[in-house]
Amino acid sequence: MVTFASGVADLLAIRELTVTFRTGGRDVYAVRGVDLSVAEGETLAVVGESGSGKSVTMMAALGLLPDNAEVSGSIRLGDRELLAMEERALRSVRGAEIGVVFQDPMSSLNPVHTVSRQIAEAIRAHSDVSRAAAHARAVELLGEVGIPDAKGRADDYPHQFSGGMRQRVMIAMALACGPRVLVADEPTTALDVTVQAQIVDLVDRIRAERGMSVIWISHDLGVVAQIADRVTVMYAGRVIEQGSCADLFDAAVHPYTARLLRAMP
Ligand code: ADP
Ligand code: MG
Repeated sequence: MVTFASGVADLLAIRELTVTFRTGGRDVYAVRGVDLSVAEGETLAVVGESGSGKSVTMMAALGLLPDNAEVSGSIRLGDRELLAMEERALRSVRGAEIGVVFQDPMSSLNPVHTVSRQIAEAIRAHSDVSRAAAHARAVELLGEVGIPDAKGRADDYPHQFSGGMRQRVMIAMALACGPRVLVADEPTTALDVTVQAQIVDLVDRIRAERGMSVIWISHDLGVVAQIADRVTVMYAGRVIEQGSCADLFDAAVHPYTARLLRAMP
């Protein structure tokens, strides 16, 4: 098993991941031989310009790539190889053990169902609890992610929440089954700066309280410096640099990373 200097074992480990999209006559090599991993309780930031393969890497781990994607390599969660699992088993791992929050919460929320109903359904999809118990747990989760008057707002619809509050609802949904890893794919990009900071603080607090691992995909090196233990830098489908946050900010080796750092406000 691969370990870090701290002696903590990897929880999610991606090795030699390659993803190719077959589109008509042309193959798009989206991800090429990517290695990255996150240990228990750790925050890994994945940074890189648009199109560098960050989302595709995470979608592969989540089993959410479209049918025209050809995937090779290894993605291990604990001692299980996710790429060897059949669709059903993978769906269950994805819902229960890896939570995900995207940039646009409306892409994942159902506009015609109340937020508590959606969270309760996420709970019931992976555990055998009554409707009433799932609803009560959903209200608790809405409180945990900082929705004021969670009980009063539980039966509101997604559009009744502001962008930041909606992202909190998505985080509650991602936490529904008590995941071991939370993947946050640019969850603050669409939010204004004050709200961004609140969401960053929220995820970091929940990580610490639950001992959960976080993979935080971001453009924002300010946020990365604030919350990440380690950073993986992607460029054109490859990992070009990887290290502790402190090392990277002190002495980036790759010219692209150095450029990113110089562009920091
Ligand atoms: P990032 O998240 O770093 O901005 P992505 O992982 O979304 O980048 O995309 C990596 C590359 O894969 C891009 O060139 C993108 O155009 C391509 N890609 C992503 N999804 C598909 C798809 N479904 N079909 C074809 N190409 C895709
Ligand atoms: Mg992306």
